[in-house]
Amino acid sequence: MNTKMKHGAKPKFTGYRKILENKAEEVRRSMSAQKAAQVVARLDCPSDEGDLSQQHHEEWIFLNRNTIDMKLLREIVDALHRIETGLYATCMECDEPISQKRLEAVPWARYCVTCQEAIANRVATGEYVNEFQEAR
Ligand SMILES: [Zn+2]
Repeated sequence: MNTKMKHGAKPKFTGYRKILENKAEEVRRSMSAQKAAQVVARLDCPSDEGDLSQQHHEEWIFLNRNTIDMKLLREIVDALHRIETGLYATCMECDEPISQKRLEAVPWARYCVTCQEAIANRVATGEYVNEFQEAR
């Protein structure tokens, strides 16, 4: 017997782990592709007064887009960490299991549907900050 499998390691969520890893890779790739495109655009266009506002606008879109990607990436990394620590698929608010249907739709879901809705309501009323909303 030479299996080095750790005791207590649950291969239960390997399917989701794979999905999450692929998604993380996709987000990382999209982020670096955008970065590369941005650098190329910079080199291509010699600074010209007229282009400046357009450039700022593009920069804003770029940063904004990257913020969304960063947030999503963090959610995914968090979910992978929860798989490692055995907390995956458990609502962080009420400790109830998160339904498989929900995990298929949002594999990095932190909360069950009920808690997510309650949190979304609290965000809407300004009781919670946006941080608690999940990235899509
Ligand atoms: Zn819950």
